[in-house]
Amino acid sequence: MKIGVLTGQPEPTKGFDETFYYVKSCTGRIKKPADNVYNTISCFGDNVTARKRPEWVATSKSGKAVRTNKNYRFLWDHICPSVEDYRLQILDLVNETLKADVTGIHLESIGFPRTEYCTCSRCVENHKESNLEWTEWRAKTVTELVAEASKIVKENEKSFSVTILPDPCFGKERYGEDFHALAEYVDFFLVPIYDMSYSPTYWLETLALDFSKQLKKPLYIELYASNPGPKIKNILAAIVSVANYADQIILATHDPCLTKEIQEKIVTDNEIVKFLQRHKCEHITNIIENWKKELSGTDSSL
Ligand SMILES: [Zn+2]
Repeated sequence: MKIGVLTGQPEPTKGFDETFYYVKSCTGRIKKPADNVYNTISCFGDNVTARKRPEWVATSKSGKAVRTNKNYRFLWDHICPSVEDYRLQILDLVNETLKADVTGIHLESIGFPRTEYCTCSRCVENHKESNLEWTEWRAKTVTELVAEASKIVKENEKSFSVTILPDPCFGKERYGEDFHALAEYVDFFLVPIYDMSYSPTYWLETLALDFSKQLKKPLYIELYASNPGPKIKNILAAIVSVANYADQIILATHDPCLTKEIQEKIVTDNEIVKFLQRHKCEHITNIIENWKKELSGTDSSL
């Protein structure tokens, strides 16, 4: 098992196998692409564009898919996946990002906001023309964009991956995320399984097991490790519960200082070492041993 980090720093993070960095998050703000890291692009989650182009926002009988919608607690605003101009913008951004020496391009928020979205005139028309059943048409709409992005990235001989939402049973129905079809185009899937406390953790294991049994490509699991967030011991408990099923665990700290703080706390806490020994987590113990060496090279007090 490998360990990665999602950080706000546009460079590789020491002690981690892979670093993920937002070139565009769901806020809609676009940053410069970064060398030697995975450059993450939020697709249809885009608050800036939703504000500028309200006619592009996904809609349904439950209202527009925006944060102010009282029927759903949307965490960000969603653009309709049928907006052709917006799809081209995403592909342009993929092309632009590939001008840097990226490790890979990672796409997130690739799907529809919820089951009943989107019923705008564009989607109604496209669905009708497709002659497909509603769920199949939505999945095709999502998969086609991923396939186009994948083609561009693969022509540049870089890694390509997507985030799928943490529903191993109904992701296709709810979000149009058909991970059986998507598997053809990606090098790995990333599943974010966030919680503010990770107590208890049995449900994490269930989700990780279900995904690992179904996905035809490697599974990366992203755990919440930001501030304010779970206690270090609980983050470790979360890592332990998914470690047997994930090819890589990504700690989402969003902050390089916090990343280092977590590493330091873990390597200096004997209780944590005992906890890992009790759970026979050798692959995690090895990661921590590497962190110890890494940190002692830069700080002699450790
Ligand atoms: Zn639509």
